[in-house]
Amino acid sequence: MCGIFGVVTNQDIPIGKIALEGIKRLEYRGYDSVGIVSQFNGKLFIKKDAGKIDEVHKKLKLDDFPGKVALAHTRWATHGAPTKINSHPHTNCTNEIAVVHNGIIENFMTLKKELIQNGHNFRSDTDTEVIPHLIEEKMKEGFDLKDSIIEILKICKGSYGLAILHVNMPDTIIVVRKESPLVIGIEPGKTTYCASDI
Ligand code: GLU
Repeated sequence: MCGIFGVVTNQDIPIGKIALEGIKRLEYRGYDSVGIVSQFNGKLFIKKDAGKIDEVHKKLKLDDFPGKVALAHTRWATHGAPTKINSHPHTNCTNEIAVVHNGIIENFMTLKKELIQNGHNFRSDTDTEVIPHLIEEKMKEGFDLKDSIIEILKICKGSYGLAILHVNMPDTIIVVRKESPLVIGIEPGKTTYCASDI
C-alpha cells in the first residue's frame, strides 16, 4: 500500500505546496519514504528520500517546485529497502519519464533482466523501475506515451495504480489502475487531481 497524489493545472498556483498538502493526507497509506516530481521547461525536478514526510520536507523543501504539473508518492516498500534510491518517483535512463506506483509488478525480475540485456541502466531495487524503462522501449518503437503504457501493461503482471509524467508533456498526467485504488478529481477547465484515496 502507498499513496499517490497528482495535480495538473492551468492556474497560477504553487504546485509544490499543493503536491505536499495532497501527499500528507495520504501518509497513513505508507510512510517509509516520500518523493515529488514536477515538470517545467522541458525538465523533470525530483526530490525524494527515506523518512517521514515532515522530516524529508525539513531537509529538501518539498513545497518548492516549478511548473504546473506534479506527482507525489509516499511509499510502503514491498521490493527494495526503504532508501533514497528506492523512493519513488522512478525514471527511465534519460530521465524523461517519471512514474509513481502503488502495488506490485510480480514479474519484474524477468522484465528487468531483459531490459538490462537491452542496455538499460537500473538505479533501484524496486519492481516499479521496470515501468519507465519499458515505456522508453515502446516510445523508441514509435508509440506515443499513452499507447506505450497500454502496450507495456499487456506484459506486466500484478497490481498497480500508476501516475506518469513525460518531460515533453507539461499539461498531462497519465493514470492507470488495476486492483490498486486511484481516483480522479476535476475542477472543470482549471485543475485536475488524482489520488489513491478520495
Ligand atoms: N512495489 C513498489 C515498491 O516497493 C510500491 C510499493 C507501494 O505500493 O508502496 O516500491
